[in-house]
Amino acid sequence: MDADIRHDWTKDEVRALFALPFNDLIFRAQSLHRKYFDAREVQISTLLSIKTGGCPEDCAYCPQAARYDTAVKAEKLMSLASVLREAVAAKAAGATRFCMGAAWREPKDRDLDAVCEMIDGVRALGLETCATLGMLSETQAQRLKSAGLDYYNHNLDTSPEFYGEIVTTRNYQERLDTLNHVRAAGIHVCCGGIVGMGESEDDRAGLIATLARLDPHPESVPINALVRVAGTPLSDAPVVTALDFVRMIAAARVTMPASMVRLSAGREDMSEETQALCFLAGANSIFYGPKLLTTPNPAADDDRALMGRLGLVAMGGE
Ligand code: SF4
Repeated sequence: MDADIRHDWTKDEVRALFALPFNDLIFRAQSLHRKYFDAREVQISTLLSIKTGGCPEDCAYCPQAARYDTAVKAEKLMSLASVLREAVAAKAAGATRFCMGAAWREPKDRDLDAVCEMIDGVRALGLETCATLGMLSETQAQRLKSAGLDYYNHNLDTSPEFYGEIVTTRNYQERLDTLNHVRAAGIHVCCGGIVGMGESEDDRAGLIATLARLDPHPESVPINALVRVAGTPLSDAPVVTALDFVRMIAAARVTMPASMVRLSAGREDMSEETQALCFLAGANSIFYGPKLLTTPNPAADDDRALMGRLGLVAMGGE
């Protein structure tokens, strides 16, 4: 099976995948998917915003950036008790992984103390833990590992070439540095990107090729469709067609066959048929719950019903 796992993918090769006849690409993705996973299983994660809004960064897609006039209001870091209440509810709804997101450029050391307590508490409930807190130093990554963190999410967002159009308050290399610190600390990596930010097909291929050149591949690869939020610079970004989105999922599956490919933000606006095609193209992870940080997500009941209609079951679930 190892011949399928490569770390030398080029942008041109990914472009060639996009250019395949749709059915050929899906067949290739689904064949690899079945080689590495039980194709009926979908891993379910829940994402909670533990510190919302007021972020000093300028990510053009993000309603939590303080500089954009959006409906998101800045809040303080949640208390340990409230986070644990949400984790208990997530577990009861079938989640096996609980992700905690904070709108920071990077965590301050005192904030990290509080997050470490949350990680400890969530793990004690029998859930896998994931955090997304911004950039991390080597020492901070090690502290999170000691607290028992299983996964760290840090997205590359888009291609190296297009990144400067989306974020100016940090650079691509800083993203890669944090990913290296996370990896060196022994924490699993969750890293993906967003489509629909006005990027070219070349940029989408560049994102996939950059992810697929990481060695090892990220264990989780979230592929997001931009949720266009009023007040952000990307509120009028051109919508990506459903078939192009499915091609992205398939390219992620083909290039990173053993990773969990997560259908992430933007599901609220996708038809059931599009989501079904995404599962066929190799997506095997979703976020459950009414909100993804601050943007809407399908209700858990709707997700359960859709999974039932497609004959999908929760991975590691009941
Ligand atoms: S994506 Fe994260 S870092 Fe960027 S503005 Fe939003 S909360 Fe801040």
